[in-house]
Amino acid sequence: MLTNVENSGFGPVDTSKSPFARWKSMELKNVSLNEGFWTKKQTVNRKISLYFGFEMLIKAGNFDNLRIAAGSIKGNYRGYVFQDSDIYKWLEAVAWEMGNEPDKELSSMTDQAISLIATAQRPNGYINSYIQTRESPEPWIDLDNGHELYCAGHLFQAAVAFQRALGDHRLLNIACRFADYICSVFGPDKRHGACGHPEVEMALVELYRLMNEPRYLDLAIFFIDQRGQHMMKGHRSYGPEYYQDHVPVRQVKEAAGHSVRQLYLASGVTDLYLETGEQALLEAMLRLSKDITETKLYITGGVGSRFDGEAFGDPYELPADQSYCETCAAVAGFMWNWRLLLATGESRYADQMERVLYNNILASPDLDGRHYFYINPLMLRQAKDLRLSAEDPSGESSILKQRPEWHDCACCPPNVMRLFSSFTHYLSTHDAEGIQIHHYASADISCDLSSEQHVKLNMITEYPWQGLIRLKVMESVDSPWALSLRIPEWSQKPTLSINGKIVKDLSFEKGYLVLERAWLVEDIIELELGMEPMFVISNPRIDATRGCLAIQRGPIVYCLEDIDQEIKGRLLDVEIDKNEPLITKWEGDLLNGVMVVEAKGQFIDIEGWRGHLYQQTKFPIQKTTHPARLIAIPYYAWGNREIGGMRVWIPEKMS
Ligand SMILES: [Zn+2]
Repeated sequence: MLTNVENSGFGPVDTSKSPFARWKSMELKNVSLNEGFWTKKQTVNRKISLYFGFEMLIKAGNFDNLRIAAGSIKGNYRGYVFQDSDIYKWLEAVAWEMGNEPDKELSSMTDQAISLIATAQRPNGYINSYIQTRESPEPWIDLDNGHELYCAGHLFQAAVAFQRALGDHRLLNIACRFADYICSVFGPDKRHGACGHPEVEMALVELYRLMNEPRYLDLAIFFIDQRGQHMMKGHRSYGPEYYQDHVPVRQVKEAAGHSVRQLYLASGVTDLYLETGEQALLEAMLRLSKDITETKLYITGGVGSRFDGEAFGDPYELPADQSYCETCAAVAGFMWNWRLLLATGESRYADQMERVLYNNILASPDLDGRHYFYINPLMLRQAKDLRLSAEDPSGESSILKQRPEWHDCACCPPNVMRLFSSFTHYLSTHDAEGIQIHHYASADISCDLSSEQHVKLNMITEYPWQGLIRLKVMESVDSPWALSLRIPEWSQKPTLSINGKIVKDLSFEKGYLVLERAWLVEDIIELELGMEPMFVISNPRIDATRGCLAIQRGPIVYCLEDIDQEIKGRLLDVEIDKNEPLITKWEGDLLNGVMVVEAKGQFIDIEGWRGHLYQQTKFPIQKTTHPARLIAIPYYAWGNREIGGMRVWIPEKMS
C-alpha cells in the first residue's frame, strides 16, 4: 500500500507547487458550479453519458479484454490495441464526477472496473490487455504502434483523479506499480525509445506532482528527450513526422503529423516546463502555438485538417468541408492551452480554450449525451458525405440520421466525458495576490490567498448567452487583494462597475482586467463584455473560405443548417448580406435553448450554370436571386434534428 500520498483535492493539473507556474490550481472543493449552462451539460454527462459509456465498454469488449488478460475467461481480444485507454478515460471522468457528487451506481461500476484492472495486472506491475492476450505476450515489442505507454498514461491520469477527487488510492496503487516497473525498463542507462502516441509524458508529470516521486519526472524528461531521433518507422507511409519524431522537441518550429499526438506531446512538454523552468521548452511550445493559431486553426478551435493521417495540413490549409477536426485533438488543444496559460499568464491561451470548448468540443456529443462525433466538419453538403473517421469512410448508401452511438475507435467520447466532469478545474486559479477568473459560469469560488487569508466570491452569469458577469464578494480580508477577470478576444468594449459605479480607468495585464483593492463583503462587481453578434472573415490565404463570412456571438460560432432555412436543400447557393443587421433571438424550446441569429441574404438561381461547371468570363451569367432570411444556430448544436446540409462559412453577397 502507498504511504506518503497527499490527500490533495486538486483537479487534473496541480500547479500548487510547480515552481514555474504563474498561477496555482484551485482545490476542487473551492469551486462549485451553480445553476446554468454548464450544470446542464454536467447533468447530462453524469446521468446519461457516464452510464451509457459503461454499457458501451461492456458491449465493445473492453472489460472482457481485461478478463481474458487475467485468465478468468477465455476468448479473443477485441478492438484496437489501445482499447484499455477507453476504460481509463471513462474511469477518470467518473472519478471527477463522483467528486462533484457521490453516486452509488457509478461507484459500483468503477469498483468492478478497478478490480478487473487489479486482477489483470502482472506481478511485476505491467498491465496491457492487448499484449497480455497475445500468443507471445512480450511487452514493448512495437513502441511505435503498440500504445502501451499511451494506455499507461491514461491509467495514471485516472488514478490521479481517484486520489484527488475521492481520496481513493486503489487505482493509484496499480498505477504506481506500473510506473515503477516502467522506470525499471526505460531510461538513459536502460532501454531507449518512446511511445508512438504521446500521453504518458503529461501523466508522469502529474503522477510526480501527486506522489512527489522524482523518478516519474525524470522519466517524463527522458521520453520527451527521446523524440526527434527518427527512430519511429512511421504508420503506413507517413514517416516519423506522424509521431513528431522528425525533429527534437526543443527545435520544433511548426505543428506537424497526427494532431492528437502533437498536442498531447505539447501538453507534456509544457507540464515539464512548469516543473523545470527550462526556457528552451517553453520557447518551443510558444513557437508551436504561434504556428497553429496563425496558420492551422479552424474558427471552431479545431485542428487537423487532413483525414489522411488525422494530421495537421500545410499552413492555411483549412477547408471547411474536408475538415477533420478530431474531437480528441480539440480536447488535447484545450488541455495544452490550459498549461500554456498557467505558464505565461496570458489570456490568449484561455481564449483558445474557450474557442475550442464552445465550438469543436461541444459539437461532439449530441444534446442527449448518447452519441458522439469523432470528426467535426465545418460544412456538410449532404448526410451521405459525412465520414465518421479516417478509418471509417461511409459507404454510398449510409445516410447518417444522428451522431454514432460509439466508435470502433472510441477515444473521443470518454475524452469529452472527462473534460465535462472536471470543468470546474478550469474556471479559476489563484496566487498570493488574488484570484484569476478565466472562464465564466455561475459558481462559488473561494480560496486561501495565504494562511488565514480566506476570500470567497459568488459569480452569476448567463454566459455564453449573455455577456454580463456579476460577482459578489462573500468573504474577504482587510488587506487589498486582486481580482483578475479575463477579457475575451471577441469583447470590443467591456464595461465595468463596482457597487453600481462605472469604473473608467481600467488596468489590464496580459489580457486580464486587474482590480486590486481592499474588497468588502457584499461588494458587487459587474462586468459587461458586450455580446453583439458579428461577422468574421478569414485570412485571404485560407483560399477555401475566401469571400465567405462566418457569424460569431460571444464565444459561440454559428452555422446555417438546411432544416432552418426558408428554401430547403439550397445551402450551396446561399449568400449573406453583411450590410444588413444581425438579429439575435432566444429560442427556449429549440435545441435545449439556444440564442438564434437571424441574417439577411439570398439564394442564387443556378439556371445560368445548368450544364456547366466552368464558363468563360466573357459570357456574363444572368443571376437571378431569391431574397431570404437566414437562420443561424450555434455550431455545437448542429445535427441534432437531422444530419443534412450545414455550413459555417457563408459566401458574401456582392453588391
Ligand atoms: Zn478521438
